[in-house]
Amino acid sequence: MSQSFSELQLSPNLARAIAEMGYESMTPIQAQAIPVVLQGRDVMGAAQTGTGKTAAFSLPLLQRMLKHENASTSPARHPVRALVLLPTRELADQVADQVKQYAKYTQLRSTVVFGGMDMKPQTAELKKGVEVLVATPGRLLDHIEAKNCVLNQVEYVVLDEADRMLDIGFLPDLQRILSYLPKNRTTLLFSATFSPEIKRLASSYLQDPITIEVARSNATASTVEQHFYRVDDDDKRAVLRQIVRERGVTQAFVFVNSKLGCARLARSLERDGLKTTALHGDKSQDERLKALDAFKQGQVDLLVCTDVAARGLDIKDVPAVFNFDIPFNAEDYVHRIGRTGRAGASGLAVSFVSGKDTRLMADIEKLIGKKFELEAVELEADRKPTGRFNDGQRAWREGGGEGDRDQRDIRAARESRTARGSAEERRQPRAPRVPADPLFDRPYEPSPAGDAKPDWEAASPKPASRLSPNIKTRKKVPALFKSTPPTEG
Ligand code: AMP
Repeated sequence: MSQSFSELQLSPNLARAIAEMGYESMTPIQAQAIPVVLQGRDVMGAAQTGTGKTAAFSLPLLQRMLKHENASTSPARHPVRALVLLPTRELADQVADQVKQYAKYTQLRSTVVFGGMDMKPQTAELKKGVEVLVATPGRLLDHIEAKNCVLNQVEYVVLDEADRMLDIGFLPDLQRILSYLPKNRTTLLFSATFSPEIKRLASSYLQDPITIEVARSNATASTVEQHFYRVDDDDKRAVLRQIVRERGVTQAFVFVNSKLGCARLARSLERDGLKTTALHGDKSQDERLKALDAFKQGQVDLLVCTDVAARGLDIKDVPAVFNFDIPFNAEDYVHRIGRTGRAGASGLAVSFVSGKDTRLMADIEKLIGKKFELEAVELEADRKPTGRFNDGQRAWREGGGEGDRDQRDIRAARESRTARGSAEERRQPRAPRVPADPLFDRPYEPSPAGDAKPDWEAASPKPASRLSPNIKTRKKVPALFKSTPPTEG
C-alpha cells in the first residue's frame, strides 16, 4: 500500500497545497481511503476526527472534480458537486477550512453553511456558485427550502461523523436531504462506530461500499497522568480551582455532562477569577467561534464544554483535562482525555467521582483495562489556615481570596510561560518531554501489525444502546429506525 502522497499522482495543484501544509506521508485512513475514493467507490469508513479523515475524503473528491474546473463567473458553471454533512457548526467550519486549503490552487469553489448565523451572507455565497458545500443538516434544509441551492448535480456526498448526526437526531433531516440528490452518485460515510443504526443508514444509501477501518484502540496515552478523586458535587468547583493552582495548570478542558451545567460552571469559575469560557450547543455561533479562538490563542485558561460541542475539535496538546462530571459513556472518557498528553507533552487527566459515579468509573476501568485508585482530596478550606490572613473570613477575602489567588497564580504561571519560550512550549505542562506525537511531529510510519496503536487511532466504538443521556433527539425519528431515540438529560 502506498504511503507517500507523491505515489497518488494527484494533480500538481493539490500536491502543492498538501506540501504547503507540511504533510509528507499519509495517515492510515488516507492510505486506505484515497485510492478507493479515486476509483469512485462508495466507502464506509470507521475513523474519527484527528485521524486525517478530512483529507482522506476531500483530496480524492477534489481530484475527481478537477474535470469540472473553470474560471467562469457564471454561477451556473459552478453547481454543487460535492456535499459534506457534519453534525456541528464547529466541525463544519473546521472541515470547510481544510477543504479550502486543499483546493486553494484549483478553481474549485467551496463554502460552509451552518445554523446560528445570519443566512444572508451564506445565501450570497451559494448564489455565486460553489462546487463543494460543507453543511450542517438543519441549515442546509433551510437553504434548500429557500431555493438558495440546487443539488441536482451533486456527484459526491460525505456523511461525516454519521453516528453523532444520528445521536443528535438528524436522521429525518438526512433522509430528506438525501432524497433531493441524484441517485447516481458516490456516497462516503464516516462514523466512529458501526452500530446497527449506522449499518441500516449505510445499507439504505450506499451502494456496494468498501469498508475501511483504521485500527482502533481504547488505550489512553501512556503520557497522560490519570487521577480519580472522590469529590462531593458541592466541592467540585473548589477542588478544581485547588488543583489548577497546585499543579500550575496553564490551560485545561473542563468536561461536564449537560449544557446547563456547562454554562453554570463557566459563570461561577469566571466569578472566581479564572479566565473561563463555555462551549455548548446553546451558545450562539459567534460566541462559540470566539470562545474557541480565545482558547486557541491562549487568552482563556479553562474551556468548559460538553462532549457534543467539543467532539472532533482540532485542539491538540492541552496541558490538562478535567472530568468535572464523569462521562456517561466510558468511550467519551477516552475521547476527552485524548486531548492531553499529545505532541510530546505529558498530560494530566483528573476525574471527579461523586457517590453516584462509581459504576461509571468502573465502566471506564473496564474499557481501558486499567484499575485506578479512588483518591481522597483534602480541600484547602478544610485545612487549618495559617499565616497573616488568618483572622476571619473577611480578611481572607480581602487579602487573599480564592479568586484573587487563582488569578495571581494563573498570571504568574503565564508570566513564567512567556519568559520560557515559544507559543507551542507555553501550552505544555511542567512535566518532562517525551517522544513526539507521530501524526503531528513526523511523517506517518505504519506500526507493525498487532503492535501498540498510535494516538490518532485511540478511538472507540460506542454501542448504540448506551447513548449519552445528555444528547437530545431533536425530532422524532420516523420510518427507517424503529428503535427508541436517545434523549437528553
Ligand atoms: P482531521 O482528522 O481530518 O480533522 O485531521 C486532523 C489534523 O491532522 C488536521 O490538523 C490536519 O491538518 C492534520 N493532518 C491530516 N493529514 C495529515 C498528514 N498526512 N500529515 C500530517 N498532518 C495531517
